Parts: sequence; C-alpha cells; structure tokens
Amino acid sequence: MIQSKMIEKEEELQCSLKHKLPVLMIVCDEKLKRNERLLCSECMENYESKSQLMSFKKVLQNIEENQKQKQKNVENVMMIRIKLIEEIQRGLFLLKSNVVQLLDQIIGNVDEWIKHIIIIGQQNVTYSFYNELENLINQKRLEEFAQIQLIDQINQIQLSYNQKIEKKLNLFKSFSEGQNCENILNQLRNANETKENTGKKILILGEKAMEQVGDEQKQLEQQLMKYKQVQFNFIDDSNQQNSSCKAIVFNKDESIMISCDNCGIKIWKFEQGRFKLSNTYDKHSNPVRCLVYSKQTNNFISGCINHQIICWQQINQNEWKCSQPFEQHTDSVNCLLLNKQEDQLISGGDDDKIIVWKVDFIKNDLTFLYS
Ligand SMILES: [Zn+2]
Repeated sequence: MIQSKMIEKEEELQCSLKHKLPVLMIVCDEKLKRNERLLCSECMENYESKSQLMSFKKVLQNIEENQKQKQKNVENVMMIRIKLIEEIQRGLFLLKSNVVQLLDQIIGNVDEWIKHIIIIGQQNVTYSFYNELENLINQKRLEEFAQIQLIDQINQIQLSYNQKIEKKLNLFKSFSEGQNCENILNQLRNANETKENTGKKILILGEKAMEQVGDEQKQLEQQLMKYKQVQFNFIDDSNQQNSSCKAIVFNKDESIMISCDNCGIKIWKFEQGRFKLSNTYDKHSNPVRCLVYSKQTNNFISGCINHQIICWQQINQNEWKCSQPFEQHTDSVNCLLLNKQEDQLISGGDDDKIIVWKVDFIKNDLTFLYS
C-alpha cells in the first residue's frame, strides 16, 4: 500500500572531497556533518583520525531495516481506519442500490396507477351494439354521461395508490423533486378528501349530528361571507416559514395562534395585529398534518403523518407541556375534531379509520374508546 522511500539516490551519496568513487566507510564522529562522514577508497588512504569507522553497506542495511519496521507500523494504524471507512463505503453502495430500487418501485406504482385509470376510462366507453340498438329502437334517451360515478371510481383507486406511494416518497422529502411529487399527491388527495370525510362523518355522528354539521357549515359560510368583505393589508414579513405548513389554529380569544412548520409546532402570540413567535417545539418525528384547539381551555392537540397524536397544555406564558404520543392509527392522522363538550376527540386517518378518543384536558391525556 505504501513504500518506504529514501529522498537521496544511493549513487548521489558521495564523499565531501568529490572523488567520484563509491563510498566505502562511514566515520562515526558527532562533530562532522552530512557527507563529511562519507569516505571513498581514496579518502581512506589519507584517513587519520581516532574516530570509529563503520562499513557503509552495513549502515545502509541497518537504516533500511528500521524503515521497513516503521512502514509496517504506519500501515497497521492506517488499515484500522481504512477498514472502517470501507465499511461506510459498502453501506453507501447498498444504500444506493436500495434507493434506486425504491425509486423504481414508486415509478412502477405510478405507472400502474395511470394504467388503472386508463382501464376505468376504457370500461366507461365500452358498449354493446345490441344494447344500443335496443335503446335506439325503443327511442330511449341516450344514457347520460355519469361524470360523478367516473370520478368516484378514479378516487377509489387513488386511495390505495396514495398509501402505496406516500410512505416511500416520504424518504425523499429533503429533495425538492420529492417534495414536488408529494405536493401533487396532497392536491389529489384533498380533491376527494372533502367529499369522503363528509360521508364518513354522516355514518358516525348520525342524523342529529348531521344537522349540527350542517349548521356548522352554514355558520362557516356566513363567516366566510363576512371575511370576504374585509380587506387585508400587508404589514409585516419579519416572520419566516421554513417549510410546509398544513394547519393553523387559534385559541378562543384569538390571542394565541398555533401553526406547523413541517415536523415543528410554532406557538405565536397575536398582539396588536402582529404575530410574535413565543415558542417552537419539535416533538413530532414527522410532519404535522392537523391541529385542533380547545374552545374552553388552553389546550390543543396535534396529529402527524406518522400516526401520532400529541396533546399540549399551556403551563405558563411561553411554555407548553406535551403528552406522550398516542398511536392507534397505522397511517397519517389527517383530521382532528372535538365534540361540543370537549370530552371526546374524533380523528381521521389515512388508514381508513375514524377513531373516537376520550379527552382529559386537565391530565393532558387521551384514552382510546373505539374506532
Ligand atoms: Zn573520497
């Protein structure tokens, strides 16, 4: 791996009197310097000194042996490090092949997804001549294009592909290209989520609650109408958001705002029309997806894409206590809702589950009830 190497060439070693003859002996005198110690045959003839002499050959051999030993020691020390570093390199090669494999899988999934949509499209334009003839002769009206039904079918297959792709894509979040793919995925999901959630809510809450939801919806719309008449003026851009924010909530009197910044949770004070960052917490290991704030106490709850739900309780002006993560969902927690009494929490997830929890805001605790 490495070679011991003498800077001077052997033939360059000459006596100080420049006789240009091979060096034969060495004078062991401390006072002499460099080539003054080298003697050729001619030097030897005139040599008069009591200092000891050594054969040049032996000295050369001696030095070379010492250097060989030194080379071995140096190599040993190097090799210990190099072996470990090579371990990293092997790991990187493995990682590379796994990443490529994973990307190939995602690309394959997306390809399947496209083909699946084409199959559904084809099914929708496949007809029987005899059936159509029958319709014509009976002068039945042409079957209307069932757009909603087609979109439903497309949405359904989307759910399964979303699940397949999202987790894998999560690993590539730090790449802007990966983030772009995920943004599109989210757009697609949001497009059919609104509809789906309404459906699920109806199932769970029953008719009575349905009226409530309807009322809430009306209230929301009214509020929206009000806000539409309000003009917003840009006053301050000193606060910077670093990454994706999927949810924002206010406390009851709108003096505190909670927002998420990827995996982080940011607590803001809202005073005189300006936001002041009061604290930041990084308790979720994955991006936060949803938030809900109590209308009665200074508590809020957060859910993240890695199936965790965490309860938060204000303990003083600027500090908040978080609970352990509650993990009943097996996939992203997408939405959180408190009932009116705020003793129950309803969470909806990508695992196709809606979970009802018992909430204890005093103990900052959740208990799984049913799903
Ligand atoms: Zn000489």
